[in-house]
Amino acid sequence: MKKNKIQLKKEALVKVRGLFNEADKQFSKDPKLSNKYVKLARQIAMKVNLRFPREIKRKFCKHCYFYLKPGKNCRVRVYKSRVSYYCENCKKFMRFGIK
Ligand SMILES: [Zn+2]
Repeated sequence: MKKNKIQLKKEALVKVRGLFNEADKQFSKDPKLSNKYVKLARQIAMKVNLRFPREIKRKFCKHCYFYLKPGKNCRVRVYKSRVSYYCENCKKFMRFGIK
């Protein structure tokens, strides 16, 4: 039986979260491996047209797709009602609003 789209997205999200957890664990040992997990997670998400939830969007750089770990390869600044993430790999910023 064919699974419906909602079901597929749910399953993809579980996988994506698992990959990001793993990326976080591996980061101290091998940051490159973390980047691979981000890549995999993006591929999974793309297949089912899944949009990453907010907390996951902040875990990687939207420009170079590097896994971001605040204090390690990324700097976090809070300015007024915004948070900006500075990626030390590609030297670009990402900005998020706080609600
Ligand atoms: Zn970057």
